[in-house]
This record gives sequence, structure tokens and C-alpha cells, in this order.
Amino acid sequence: MDILNKLLAIDINYIVAALIVIFYLLENLFQTQFKFDKMRLHLFHNIMIQLSIILGGLVTAAVIVTAVEWLHKNHVGLFHYIQMPVWLKLALGVVAFDFINYWFHRTAHRIPVLWRFHRVHHSDSRMDASTNLRAHPVELLVYFGLSNIVAAALFGLDLTALGLYFLIIIPYVFLEHSNIRFPDWIDKTIGLVFVTPNIHKVHHERDQYYTDSNYSDIFIIWDRIFGTFKFKPPGEINLGLNEFADDRKQTFWYLLISPFINMGRVSSEKSQKTKWKQNQLKGEKTAEQVRACSWETIKEK
Ligand SMILES: [Zn+2]
Repeated sequence: MDILNKLLAIDINYIVAALIVIFYLLENLFQTQFKFDKMRLHLFHNIMIQLSIILGGLVTAAVIVTAVEWLHKNHVGLFHYIQMPVWLKLALGVVAFDFINYWFHRTAHRIPVLWRFHRVHHSDSRMDASTNLRAHPVELLVYFGLSNIVAAALFGLDLTALGLYFLIIIPYVFLEHSNIRFPDWIDKTIGLVFVTPNIHKVHHERDQYYTDSNYSDIFIIWDRIFGTFKFKPPGEINLGLNEFADDRKQTFWYLLISPFINMGRVSSEKSQKTKWKQNQLKGEKTAEQVRACSWETIKEK
């Protein structure tokens, strides 16, 4: 516990800064997965977004810490009523935070106003570890800040569990987004339980059929249990979103104001066909199928 307390005392911003440097070096040393130019400019825009998150984060961190402390003092949540060793409570705490974040993430894809903010993270048509820094401050601080408070309230999690969760999740999401080639066997073994970089990159595929999948951060079991797991070989992945394909929409300033700009979700021709084929396979007569079917008919005419 002493080691954990020492680790928890480190300023989270130092950890993020160190991870940016480590992954930048690794991506330059090892064979990269996706080739792209203007790597430094891309890094600059993603770091600028992160700076706005750090400034807003000072307020949010205070709110989260106060809320989680209050909940813990007042014995709110399941784990207050179950006897178990401290280490098990901490381990289950990490699982519980990940579980609630899965549902918050899934909801961010379903509710249009939430998607406006969440699409900033999906907008990156190039991908490296810095893509992990690309999230709208409102979404990260307010929406995902709230998800941690909800998890603490439901399961009775304290600040140590939250700190441990952050210690794991922060380097983990850097790894998930890193532009490093990982062998297939990792997906077929570790990927049965944990999210691997190749599995997470499917979530960044431009085709909406795949964008709306693999919502888990650490444990892919949530996607496997709740039917949202999908896979596509990394070599076939086309990153980003069609509505952000223009390079002028890849600047940090545009990304920050983009939630307030009306833009429909632009499905690609490929995406429509995938959905149509999947519906055919399932044999479901959904409204979506009817729309996709009529779209198909129009395209063929
Ligand atoms: Zn997402």
C-alpha cells in the first residue's frame, strides 16, 4: 500500500507529459502501423486540446474528489455492505469504474448531443498515442467526470480506488492509441479479456458499423457480454470520421468549437453496405434495414 500511496502522490500531469514523450519515442523507434505526414503538427494540435483539458481539470478534479469523499464518508454504495480484503476491494473498484465507463461511452455514441462532443475524439484521421489527448474538455471533464462519481456512488468506491484506476487507465489508453504494430496473437489471447491496441483501433474505423463497437477501455469482456464486440484487421482500418475528413477541420481550434456546429453523421457508401449486409445476415426487418435497403436500391439505379 505504501508504493500505491507514493504513486498516487505523483501529479497526474507529469505522468501524462512523460507518456507523451515515451510514446513519441517508441512510435519513432518501432515500425509504425499507420503512415502519415505532418506528425509534429498533428501532435501540436492534440497537445493544445490537452492543455485546455488541464486548465478545466483543476476545477473538475476538486469536484470529483469532494463528491467521492462525501459518498465514502456517508457509506454510499454496494461495497460498504460486503466484507472483503482491501486488495480485492481495490481490484473490484478498477473493474467497476471500467464497467460504468463502458456504459457512459456507449451512451455518448447514442445520444446526439453527447456525440457532438465525443466525435472530437473520433475525428482524428491519423492515429498515434497523441490521439488519446484529443477529447473535448467538456466531455472529458463533465461527462466522464460524472461517470466516475456514478461508479463511486453505486459501488462504494473511495479515492484510493479512483487513483489506482487512473494509474492504470492513463498509460493503458496511450498504449491503445499508439501507432505501433502489434502481432495478431495478442488479440487472440490477451484480447479475449483485455482491450488490445488492434481491438481499440476498430472503434476508430470510419465505417459507423465499426465506430459503434468496442466501447470498453480496459476489459473487452463488457463488449463481449453486451454484444458490441467487433473486429477488423488493422491493415484494413480507415481512421476518422467523414465529416472531419478535410484537414482544415483537424485544428485544435476547430475541434474545440465543433460541438456547436451542426453536421450530420456522414456515412460512407461502404458503411451503408456493411449495415445492409449485417442486417441481411441477422435476418432482422428493422427500420434501419428498410432505409439501407432503399438506399442500396437508389445507388444501383
Ligand atoms: Zn467512442
